[in-house]
This record gives sequence, C-alpha cells and structure tokens, in this order.
Amino acid sequence: MTAPAATPLRESYDVAIVGLGPAGATLANLLALRGLSVLALDREADIYRLPRAIHFDGECMRVFQTVGIADEMAPHLVVAPGMRFLDGCGRLLIDWQRPTEIGPQGWHASYRFHQPFLEETLRSKLAAQACVDIRLRHEVFAVEPAEDHVDLRLEDTSSGKLLRTRARYVVGCDGARSTVRRFMGTELQDLKSHERWLVVDLLLHKDKPELGEHSIQYCDPTRPATYVRGVGNRRRWELMLLPGEDAAAMCRPEVVWQLLQRWITPAEATLERPAAYTFHSVVAQGWRKGRLLIAGDAAHQTPPFMGQGMCAGIRDASNLAWKLADVISGAAPDELLDTYESERSPHVREFIETAVRLGSVIQTTDVEAAKQRDADMLARPQNFATPQPRLGPGAHAGTPEAGRIGEQPAMADGTRLDDRVGYGHALIVDPAWVSDAQRIAGAIPVLPADSPSMRLWLERLGARAVLLRPDRYVESTAVDRADLPRMVLGVSGTLRKAVQA
Ligand SMILES: Cc1cc2nc3c(=O)[nH]c(=O)nc-3n(C[C@H](O)[C@H](O)[C@H](O)COP(=O)(O)OP(=O)(O)OC[C@H]3O[C@@H](n4cnc5c(N)ncnc54)[C@H](O)[C@@H]3O)c2cc1C
Repeated sequence: MTAPAATPLRESYDVAIVGLGPAGATLANLLALRGLSVLALDREADIYRLPRAIHFDGECMRVFQTVGIADEMAPHLVVAPGMRFLDGCGRLLIDWQRPTEIGPQGWHASYRFHQPFLEETLRSKLAAQACVDIRLRHEVFAVEPAEDHVDLRLEDTSSGKLLRTRARYVVGCDGARSTVRRFMGTELQDLKSHERWLVVDLLLHKDKPELGEHSIQYCDPTRPATYVRGVGNRRRWELMLLPGEDAAAMCRPEVVWQLLQRWITPAEATLERPAAYTFHSVVAQGWRKGRLLIAGDAAHQTPPFMGQGMCAGIRDASNLAWKLADVISGAAPDELLDTYESERSPHVREFIETAVRLGSVIQTTDVEAAKQRDADMLARPQNFATPQPRLGPGAHAGTPEAGRIGEQPAMADGTRLDDRVGYGHALIVDPAWVSDAQRIAGAIPVLPADSPSMRLWLERLGARAVLLRPDRYVESTAVDRADLPRMVLGVSGTLRKAVQA
C-alpha cells in the first residue's frame, strides 16, 4: 500500500527497489507474489506521463499475465502486424512480419500500447499488495553495503527530510543514469550507436486509415524516419536529426509540422509532444555486486528500432525476482544470483546488436551508400525474423532446449499453463509419467501434458518431461524417466555445476 506520509519507514525490508518505472514496478509485483517485504521507491511524485515505449512482445504480455494485469491491459492494446523497411523511392527492402494470431506464448507476438497506462496498471496492482511499501518523492542518494544487508540513505523530497533504512538486497531500476550503478562502480560497454532522433507523438482528430497498421522505416538518406501506429488515436513519427541541426529549434511546432507534411497536417491531428533523444546502445559490465543489483535501463540501453528496450527490463525483472525470492528464503544458494547477469546479458546484447544493425540500414545518410544498400537489398529481398536468443550460461541444464523461452499451451480444460502454475517452477510430463514424477517432485507441481498443444510442445522439444522455471524459461528436459530426480534436484537448490554456454 502507498503509506501515508507520516508512516515511518520500517527498519528493514527483504528487497528495496530504487525506481518504479516499468522494470521496477514489474519486479516489485513479482516479488510480492512470493510474499517478500518490498520497499518500492521513486523520486518523482507520479509516473512519467508522456509515452516512450510503444511496443512490447508476447513474452512481456506473459509476464503481465503472471503479475495479474494482462486482462486489464488487453482492451488497451493493438496487435501489430509487423514492420516494413522502405527505401527513398518506397521500395520494400526488409519485411518484418509478426503473426497476428495467438502464438506459442499464449499471446500475440507483438502489441502496441501506451506506456503511461501500463505503468499506472502496474502501480495500482502493486498498491493492493500488503507486503509492498510504496514511497513516491523519495530519492535514494546513497547505498552502503554491509555484510548481511544494505543501508539506504534517501530524501523525502516533499519535506526535505533525510531518512535511513536497510534491505537485504537493493535493486537499482533507476534508469539510464542509475545511482545504484554508480555505487556498484559498474561501467558501461559501448556498442557504438548514439544517434539523435526527434520523436513526435500526435493525436489524430479522426481516423486516417491510409497511414496503415504496419510500422514503417523510411530508409531515406535525406531524412531517415519511422512511423508507428499507436493505440487509439495515437500516432508516432521519429525523424533522425542531421549533423548540425539544433535539437531545440527542431522541436518548434512549425518545424515539426513541416517535417511531417508528407504524411499529415495540423488540421488532422494535435501535436502531443516533440522531444529530441539520443538513442544509446550500451550494456553494463557487472549487474550484481554483492547485495546490489541493477535491472532495466540501468543495465542496458538500446536504440528503439526493434521496440525492445522496456521488454528487456521486463525480462530482467522476471529472471531476477524468483532468484531473489529463492535465495532470501534459503531455498537456493546465493550464487544463484550470479546467474542473473550471465543469463540476461548475452540475451539482451543480441537484441541490442540486432537493433544497431537495423539502425545502420535505416540511418544511412550518404546518398551513394544508400543507393548501393538499396541495390543489394532489392536484389535479395529480406525477410526479417525476430531473434529468440537462448539465455547465457546459468541455472539451466545446458542442453539445446534448456535456456530457451518455453511455450504456454492450453491445458485440456482450456486453462492457460501459467495460470495453473503461478510464479513458480512446474514439471510438465507425459501423462504416463505423472505418478513417478509426483513421488519425487516435492513441492513442485506436476502437470500432465493432457492436451494436443501440450503434447505438441513436448514433441517439439523432443522430450517427455520439461522443467519450466518461474520466468517460463526451460530449465531442463528429459527423455528418460530415470532423469526425473536430476531435474527436480536442479530446483531444490543445488546450483548446477555443469553450466554450458
Ligand atoms: C522514444 C522512445 C521510444 C521507445 N520505444 C520503446 C518500445 O517501443 N518498446 C520498448 O520495449 N522500449 C522502448 N523504449 C525504451 C523504454 O521506454 C525504456 O527502456 C523503459 O522506460 C525503461 O524502464 P526502466 O524501468 O528501466 O527505467 P525508467 O522508465 O527510466 O524508470 C526509472 C525510474 O527510476 C526513478 N529514479 C531514478 N533515480 C532515482 C533515485 N535515485 N531514487 C529514486 N528513484 C529514482 C525515476 O524517477 C524513474 O521513475 C523507448 C524509449 C524511448 C525514449
């Protein structure tokens, strides 16, 4: 609950989360599902009201399902059919199609959304959790690790009062300029893309169907640009700023409308905001230092060409929350937390590197180079497929299927798998193995593959049993009944020694 201003902070918490953007609010919700005492801090009085992220994927929707907000979100989303990359003459260079039917995650592959609505929904879910203490206008200015806890120093900026509390772990979800990251001494690896773009959000006065449902990358060397259909009457254009252009001058409404004139006029829409951003591509080198951790933009930043920055933060939260809960409860050794970076860092890096590669196609401003690019790409039209990287080495068995996101088939009674499982491990087995599995599985729920889609999933994995982690990644699989004890041991806390890339 949001504590009344006069309520003093508790002396200690299991986890303090610095920053309640999408990554922090998702993490706090997931930790609450495990009953941890959580201090959730943000220095601002309210969420950031203007849209930034506009796209998330089916895997994120699945995390929102776990948090319990998917049904509330669904009516406010638009299913996205994909993205087209066009050259300066409008010819198709790359076609990135996203299936519009329900996919393996139990959700659509790609959604458009309004970030402030998501953040509001996450926060109101959080406000209903008795174990979460939400403090807005509380700015953390120091974190001091001790042997079995971290001391936090913060300011209640509504009164200027300086406060102290402690937590067993502190997670910095405090964005690109993370304070927690500074205290960890973590540096950023530069993946070498830092371009300036003008982001323009518009509200249509009435529908304008000719703009289309697809996102368009205009790979026009005279002014690379992006169009994205938002939810409701929201539409976005992003326009690359060219060397020498002054960002403030380019944000002037008359300049913006001139830049947009080939698509839309002031009679058709209201300008919600133009803003200039430099899109960075960086990955932190050290996501954990003892009891301090970072997640979301604090740990990585990407150019937005794949719409994956926030998605990566949601995946961080989903990967980290169960590990923190297991370590804090004593069910797993502290080293489990080291697998957070080893698993997540290579995964997010693949998305960032792909976004940088796509960005280099889009951001070509040399006319001759663009001509050559177009000739090469038109000779070999490209279909782009969304990467689905495997986690890096960590808490999975190291077989080719392990470390990959699992599917969410429907069970025989129509229930979605995750709704049955909750935010925990689950052992899904060939129906003939159920009684054996139940005998050894202890607290892990055993579910029979009792529907055609569950059986098909096992077939695709080439397995008769699959151990699914709470973040829905495959921990291990088995084809032989004798392997069941080994699978179960993996979650009972013995961190696998044989970690493979
Ligand atoms: C134009 C644009 C388009 C984008 N499009 C997409 C997209 O389509 N899809 C996508 O997935 N991503 C997209 N992104 C990226 C996405 O918006 C970010 O990755 C996401 O908002 C980061 O979330 P976060 O929770 O990590 O950090 P933030 O949202 O930055 O939240 C950090 C929070 O920490 C708080 N804070 C900071 N310091 C302190 C402190 N010392 N004490 C207390 N509180 C503190 C801040 O007030 C803030 O609320 C886009 C970004 C931009 C700019």
